Amino acid sequence: MVLPFRLFFTTFWLILLTCSEQVFALQFQRYHTQEEINATLREWALKFPETAHFEILGQSQQGREIGLLTLSRSSGAETQAIYLNATHHGNEKAATEALLALANHLIQARNEPGIDRLLRRYKILVHPLVNPDGHANNTRGDAQGHDPNRDYAGPQKPDKDAFQLPETRLVRELMRRENVVASAAFHSGLEAILWPWCHTPESSQHDAVFKGIGELVARSMGLTKARQSFYDYKTDGEFIDYAYMKYGTYALTLEVATEASPPAEQLALTVQRSITGTMTFLNSIDKALERRDSGLSGEAQAVLW
Ligand SMILES: [Zn+2]
Repeated sequence: MVLPFRLFFTTFWLILLTCSEQVFALQFQRYHTQEEINATLREWALKFPETAHFEILGQSQQGREIGLLTLSRSSGAETQAIYLNATHHGNEKAATEALLALANHLIQARNEPGIDRLLRRYKILVHPLVNPDGHANNTRGDAQGHDPNRDYAGPQKPDKDAFQLPETRLVRELMRRENVVASAAFHSGLEAILWPWCHTPESSQHDAVFKGIGELVARSMGLTKARQSFYDYKTDGEFIDYAYMKYGTYALTLEVATEASPPAEQLALTVQRSITGTMTFLNSIDKALERRDSGLSGEAQAVLW
């Protein structure tokens, strides 16, 4: 009788352990509410404090919480940060889900050597809801109809004409606080990888670097569209122009689905493909920075600095 009891006992604990891990793993069969999103980010921070940290950056115009999840195993203030944000455009809900799925993947696979390495070398800043009012109201703009992704300073837009919205001011504060070396803004509504500049047809000084990484990310996702953002359409005041102009960071736009919010049954596939693309982005940045740190950057010409 002893052996079956032990077997039962061991199996019971194994099932319990597996279930308790799964409680903290998100599924992507449907869209998540903001309450679920923020509760999940908090749970991850509580459950995995050696890897995840949650904070409230501030409030939206309608008083919604704007949360940030930092994934890292290095706590130094100077640790290089890779900043990922989603849903400047509130109705582009696939973008938020794609970024949540990426965080979910990094957490679940945190002890795999490749991911452990990224977490030890970088802070990965996950900001899934830049515009929570638009997300709640299912509108592209904020509660007043303003487009947050036209509210950043840029080469032709001084600070005094920018940052009219509290949501973009929170992004500005975060970038001032952290040592951001690379960034990506998640959108949905087409399938493409885009890079600066958005405001001019002129190539940036680092166009070849952007093109190299952008095409690599696009290929990993099976996308054919990878180009300077201006040639998608001209815009002033976009996040990626600001991040690149102000901080010299790598800055890509990942457009993850042809529709802003594709049917829920397509979501799992959409986020899986986005995880693949984002991991390609993170690993490319890591390789480029390693080449820089080992003094090979001039040869490789793959870094911005
Ligand atoms: Zn968008």
